[in-house]
Amino acid sequence: MNSYDSDRILESVEKTHSKVNNLEKADVIVFNTCHIREKAAEKMYSEIGKIADLKNKKKSLKLIITGCVAQAEGKAVIKRQPIVDAVVGPQMYHEIPEIIKEKGNTKHLKLDFENNKKFLYLGNNRVRAKLSSFVTIQEGCDKFCSFCVVPFTRGSEFSRSVEDIKKEIYVLGEKGCVEVILLGQNVNAYHGINALKQESNLCDLIEEIEKFKNIKRISYTTSHPRDMTNSLIELHGKSSKLNPYLHLPVQSGSDKILKNMNRKYTAKEYIEIIELLRKRRPDIALSSDFIVGFPGETKSDFRQTINLVKEVGFAQAYSFKYSKRTGTKAVRMNDLVSDQEASDRLQELQQILGLQQKTFNKKFINKNVEVIVKGKGKKNDQYRGTTKWMQSVNFNIAGEIKSEYNLKILNASQSSLLGEVTS
Ligand code: SAH
Ligand code: SF4
Repeated sequence: MNSYDSDRILESVEKTHSKVNNLEKADVIVFNTCHIREKAAEKMYSEIGKIADLKNKKKSLKLIITGCVAQAEGKAVIKRQPIVDAVVGPQMYHEIPEIIKEKGNTKHLKLDFENNKKFLYLGNNRVRAKLSSFVTIQEGCDKFCSFCVVPFTRGSEFSRSVEDIKKEIYVLGEKGCVEVILLGQNVNAYHGINALKQESNLCDLIEEIEKFKNIKRISYTTSHPRDMTNSLIELHGKSSKLNPYLHLPVQSGSDKILKNMNRKYTAKEYIEIIELLRKRRPDIALSSDFIVGFPGETKSDFRQTINLVKEVGFAQAYSFKYSKRTGTKAVRMNDLVSDQEASDRLQELQQILGLQQKTFNKKFINKNVEVIVKGKGKKNDQYRGTTKWMQSVNFNIAGEIKSEYNLKILNASQSSLLGEVTS
């Protein structure tokens, strides 16, 4: 979502400013920050410190901090780093063009939650269309998992209207986008209103987006198991454009830990969702998030996570050590897991997840896949594309580059595939 937000910030100032590749040349510097785990604030302060010289040399240089660290730290940012001109929360970045226009050195603190106004101001005329583009459809969260800062930094749940989203995707499609990745902290809790002022869910929205002929692939992230409705599961079986990929974070395989995390599902319920999904779409690539070392996690709780991983078999996953977040409920929990123990558990989990990813990718050797080009690869004449299962594929091409290719997969590793062009 920060990647999408950064693009939208750039677009909102594009009439007066352009992107430079060298900090020395910049008139405005915007830091977009993430607060999900610890150390984000310290990292931000250290980055601000690095540009203090620039700011002292060029008094007119504006330094703006946005994103979730801005929201969480608020005026403390300016107190600690007086060279900062504005602290702008993630629901207020539509104010950045005005802040930039202003001459003088007034300090700005913009921390309200104006999601509705934000999208109204930003409009739908996307400039920075990519072959595969992110589109935020929902923001914020009302679930209050005990470890998570999102409800505090992104605010309560908000869904954009179907018409607003459709206009944005139409423009993206006209400008060459072929894949949209619908974004939300709780994307499958989406409940925006349609043109008839009726509430629409994520399935309704996806079915509307499928009608755009330029859009060939649709994905959505991040989903919560509690909002994985039967109709959404069914849609994976019948939609011709929905990617066979789902990121569905489970966090833990222990019901005791899930309860203390306030996730409101059990490991068995999670597995039942997976079984239903696989019945509808046997080839679906499953992805997840895991937290290890949550307060009170015993060796036996952790074994239950490992068992769940072995039972499901993930195509890829993200895993983290529990990180203490000020303001969340988990901060007050006892029975902390030592850092060493958490590191050991993380290593064990990541090793198994890595092997599962490799196994998933190896199944593609000798198969033909379609890829959308995402950019240059590491070697000369090498390009990188993604499959419908969201795997990264490297392949060689000389001369003019197209946006889509059919490839035969020659080899596979844990993190990527190697292919050759067939057409
Ligand atoms: N809304 C999604 C997750 C959003 S946050 C969901 O409910 O599943 C992205 C991921 O960051 C989470 O899935 C979690 O695994 C991780 N995360 C969030 N807070 C964390 C914390 N305090 N410590 C470690 N990982 C955390
Ligand atoms: Fe955070 Fe996701 Fe839980 Fe919301 S549902 S509080 S975003 S982990």
